[in-house]
Amino acid sequence: MNLANLIFPANDIFKVISVDNQTDLISIYVQSGQKACRCPNCCEPSTKLHSYYTRRFNDLPTFGKACRIFLRSRKYYCLTEECPLKIFTECYEDHFRPRKRTTSRLEGKLFNTVVELGGKAAERICHHFSIPVSDTTLLRLINNASLPDSRVFTAIGVDDWAYKKRERYGSILVDLTTRKVVDLLPDREEKSLITWLRKQPKLEIITRDRYGKYRRAATKGAPQAIQVTDRWHLLKNLSEALTKMMNREYAGLNRSLTPKIDESPVEVPGALPVREKEVATTGIIKQRFDEMKKLQAEGLPITKIAGRLGMSRQTVRKYMSTETLVRKSYKNRGMIENYFNHIRKRIEEDANLYLKTLWSELRLMGYPGGYSTLSEAMAYYGIRIGKKTKNPKSPEQSGSFFKPSNAAMLFLTPEYKLNITQKELIDKLCKSSSDLKCACYW
Ligand SMILES: [Zn+2]
Repeated sequence: MNLANLIFPANDIFKVISVDNQTDLISIYVQSGQKACRCPNCCEPSTKLHSYYTRRFNDLPTFGKACRIFLRSRKYYCLTEECPLKIFTECYEDHFRPRKRTTSRLEGKLFNTVVELGGKAAERICHHFSIPVSDTTLLRLINNASLPDSRVFTAIGVDDWAYKKRERYGSILVDLTTRKVVDLLPDREEKSLITWLRKQPKLEIITRDRYGKYRRAATKGAPQAIQVTDRWHLLKNLSEALTKMMNREYAGLNRSLTPKIDESPVEVPGALPVREKEVATTGIIKQRFDEMKKLQAEGLPITKIAGRLGMSRQTVRKYMSTETLVRKSYKNRGMIENYFNHIRKRIEEDANLYLKTLWSELRLMGYPGGYSTLSEAMAYYGIRIGKKTKNPKSPEQSGSFFKPSNAAMLFLTPEYKLNITQKELIDKLCKSSSDLKCACYW
């Protein structure tokens, strides 16, 4: 059997000269059979021999013994006159790489071991297998290894991020496979994103919002990639559309949710005059809403109205699409139920009882709600004091029974996460509006 074929499978350039079997070491003496070698500088082949020298390599252990290869290597003269490299050493395609003291196959095994176990543990395991190697040598293998190119991406998400909110923004790029941030661009400009995307020829998917510059940059910079609107923005857009729809139909929807007065178990206390206005904040908001509606009727554009009234354009836009001013919802109207006896007693005692006075008294008794909450709750239960007793509103007009932005979120929530009250609200809203029924997925 040819020993060289056993030691160097499928490689016939090496000849085994001798094998020395010692107690715990096998030394193999080897020489290459190649007659010529290319100069590493000018790549011209040379056959002119300069000298021999011996290189020593650690190899994979054999029969429980450490294995060492002594390679008789040649030095050649370079035959190209212009080449500055006059003498060069013999190079090989496999097994023995320049400036190495370990064969390629052993180095491969050591690298995998140290990556799996770490330096110290790998050193101990290697000694068990008769490979004398130190942990520092092993760790150096990791240090010197060229890492796989992680700068090639197939799926990228792009969005803006703030250096300083409302002042300076950049773009953030996230690798969707590893969910890690891979780059930050200094601005939100089309040009910067195009330059970045053009360096990514393998990009298959880009997720983005609806920002025009990102859309154009994605189309120009990575025309091969599919553009996807990311989930967060899809849900945000959907919730905005639902809120807008409910704001528009607010009066009707709210009426459908108003409980019937005869269903209310609370008796309406006797009629007694007092109380002037509704909550002051509501009054101001209502006043500004009316001013805005007046300007809208005059046909002024959003920016002009916003400038004149000192409102944000978003608020103007919201008001434009709605006919009725949506009032704040209140959750805790039920809190006054515990104080019904006191309220009834006080109304009987004092014909001119102010709501503010009543509220202060209730606060002292431990009522946790604010003034406006109390006012709304009184309206909800049909309890009237002061002037309101003279002009009783129909219960349909009093109070708001849902908040469009909150209700929109319920439409986006999975059914199993909703409680009974939330489900009932969605049911009622869907019964009142066929558009909303389409928006409900269950
Ligand atoms: Zn040369």
